[in-house]
Amino acid sequence: MLSKWLTTNATASIKVVECLYPVVGHSYLPPGRVFGRLEKIRNTLLSSFTSEQDIARLLALQESESGAWLHALPSPHIATLIDSTSFKIAIALRLGCKLCQPHQCICGGIADIYGYHALSCARSKGRIPRHTSLNDIIKRSLTSCGIPSLLEPPGISRADGKRPDGLTLIPWSRGKSLIWDSTCVDTLAPSHLPNTSRHAASAAELAVKKKVNKYAHLLDNYIFVPFAVETFGPWSHDAKVLVSQISQILISITGDRRCTTYLRQRLSIAIQRGNAMSVLCTLPESSPLDELFLL
Ligand SMILES: [Zn+2]
Repeated sequence: MLSKWLTTNATASIKVVECLYPVVGHSYLPPGRVFGRLEKIRNTLLSSFTSEQDIARLLALQESESGAWLHALPSPHIATLIDSTSFKIAIALRLGCKLCQPHQCICGGIADIYGYHALSCARSKGRIPRHTSLNDIIKRSLTSCGIPSLLEPPGISRADGKRPDGLTLIPWSRGKSLIWDSTCVDTLAPSHLPNTSRHAASAAELAVKKKVNKYAHLLDNYIFVPFAVETFGPWSHDAKVLVSQISQILISITGDRRCTTYLRQRLSIAIQRGNAMSVLCTLPESSPLDELFLL
């Protein structure tokens, strides 16, 4: 619209067009009555739900980071482009829509009509690429901060012999290097539903506790961050703090306050891509994908 106006109606006296992007702040927030209305709709929805899955889904989606991928500018140059198939799956999971015909999963179980089985399937094929993406994003962000890091660092292992996902090669805080270990747990997994249908991000927080126990003997020498997120988007408190710390460094270097938004969006998109891949890979390899969707 602006381009058309500039070429057709604008006066020749206009020499420069400056684009200003709104930043988060009180001035841009809608009035209180809008929030009141939204709160009312949310409560009506919650009280109308009878299944734990729907309640857990709605609670998870209320976390601000859960919808970060929806605000991303789709661009292949900054890795924020989601292909159309993955986008359809992500939207269907978010809205609780019927996603596919029930079919036998490659694990032998039944993949349900909403695609939820795929997210907690023992043979979920989206898990590893999602895990790799999350660690890659953290590592790249640290590199942009001028902090070199190493993935799967040798010479450091937890009690069961497994390595952390990453290590900074220079001290992160209090003279200690940062080690992190990321994980994405399923919000709607049967084992998590009793908690996630009461409190958002409770599956991620539980994963944090497990990670801390596994890394207990390394806590004296390293700053350990369990980077736990959930399939429906919520992050653990530790994950939020790490992203905030990295963002502050990026902002101090670049002066661009949108660094925080971009980082949150890339992480959020990595989760959605992993979900989509998990759903698609429940099918036997020879199945035509066209039959998968009801949408
Ligand atoms: Zn399965």
